[in-house]
Amino acid sequence: MSQPAPLHALPDPTTAELIAARPMLKLHTMDGLLMEGVPLQAVADQLGTPAWVYSAGTIRQRLAALTEALAGLNCHIHYAVKANDHLAILDLMRRGGAGADVVSGGELQRAQAAGIAADHIVFSGVGKTVAELRLALAEDIYQINVESHAELEMLSAVAAAMGRTARVALRINPDVDAGTHAKITTGRADNKFGIPFDEAAALYAHAAALPGVEPVGIALHIGSQILAMAPYRAAYTRAAELIRHLRAQGLEVSRMDCGGGLGIGYGDEAGASPQAFAGVLRNSFAGMGLILMTEPGRWLVGPAGVLLASVVLTKGHDRFIVLDAAMNDLVRPAMYDAYHGIVPLAAGNAVGAPRDVDVVGPVCETGDTFARGRAMPLVAAGGRVAILDAGAYGAVMSSTYNARPLAPIALVDGDRWATIRPRQEVTALWAAETIPDLTA
Ligand SMILES: *Cc1c(COP(=O)(O)O)cnc(C)c1O
Repeated sequence: MSQPAPLHALPDPTTAELIAARPMLKLHTMDGLLMEGVPLQAVADQLGTPAWVYSAGTIRQRLAALTEALAGLNCHIHYAVKANDHLAILDLMRRGGAGADVVSGGELQRAQAAGIAADHIVFSGVGKTVAELRLALAEDIYQINVESHAELEMLSAVAAAMGRTARVALRINPDVDAGTHAKITTGRADNKFGIPFDEAAALYAHAAALPGVEPVGIALHIGSQILAMAPYRAAYTRAAELIRHLRAQGLEVSRMDCGGGLGIGYGDEAGASPQAFAGVLRNSFAGMGLILMTEPGRWLVGPAGVLLASVVLTKGHDRFIVLDAAMNDLVRPAMYDAYHGIVPLAAGNAVGAPRDVDVVGPVCETGDTFARGRAMPLVAAGGRVAILDAGAYGAVMSSTYNARPLAPIALVDGDRWATIRPRQEVTALWAAETIPDLTA
């Protein structure tokens, strides 16, 4: 597979540009960087760094904007829990009217723990275990997206044995290139996801004849961080074609799950437009009388989170800025070559002349680098920065590599904020470990 083009080949946006493009952030001359009405320095003073901070207002606004764009389309939003699975975030989604798209039994239970009703939950994923399928059937969730012939047979057997019937959508692989990073492309024929397009019609007919399953629709999800509408258009055109074909054969198809993947602007590029996305849905499925579904994760929560970090020291004649946050906290730069804007918290720093620096973490891996050759103001030892757009695939992907405890999380709402997860105690890292005596 060819290497993707760098995600951010353009000149780095300035600190002022990064802040101006993010409505929840403001630079206050005295208090420094504010999230909504809360000085992030105050959060860092209290929680220490590294620390995650999420903006409730931003999540509410984004969910409302997407809901409004989709109005009239009979389209349900199922938030992709894996993007950020904190209960407080799931609670915001539930209050905003969204259901949940889950990819594991754990996420199913998390969604329910946050009060999301089973009939607002869709279960996706390429390798659901028998135990996970049993859980989904016992809870009678809204829909299970089946990704293979083998899974369909497994689900049929499990459901029939339980005396249940699963509402099933077949996740097809439309073989379109979403034009995104290779590690987050999921809708091409050589990806592990979905049922090959050519086999889908026969499998749907087969499903209709199996006990324990009721095929109700088609699903697809072509990848993540998608900024152009053309890949969606191509995928939905194929899906609509398949649905017409199935209906012509007398098979009932009432639902179309259109997947997630809407991208955001990590640099100064514009994020995907909900209006444009709604337009594609409208054109692709007009007059088909379908219940539509979408499963956005990143678009709803990505711009709503920052990771606060302190500068431990600078080295190499100020070429390297070493932070106390690392790849174990935020792995996206190491894993996907992802660009994240980095801005100083103190107002004084933000106006310093930009210079090219490498922003790195302390973990013993060369990949522990947040930015390479980045033009930004130098922040001296003891100063703090915010790593932007860290609300999606941030804290959920953290590990405790290098015996680094999980960072705390705060939620800002207007001019108030609360700690929604304290910093993990270092002793908790080994609390469940035992040293066995196997010599006896
Ligand atoms: C990850 C995932 C999503 C969400 O993707 P985003 O890019 O965060 O919108 C939606 N559906 C499925 C099946 C997924 O695996």
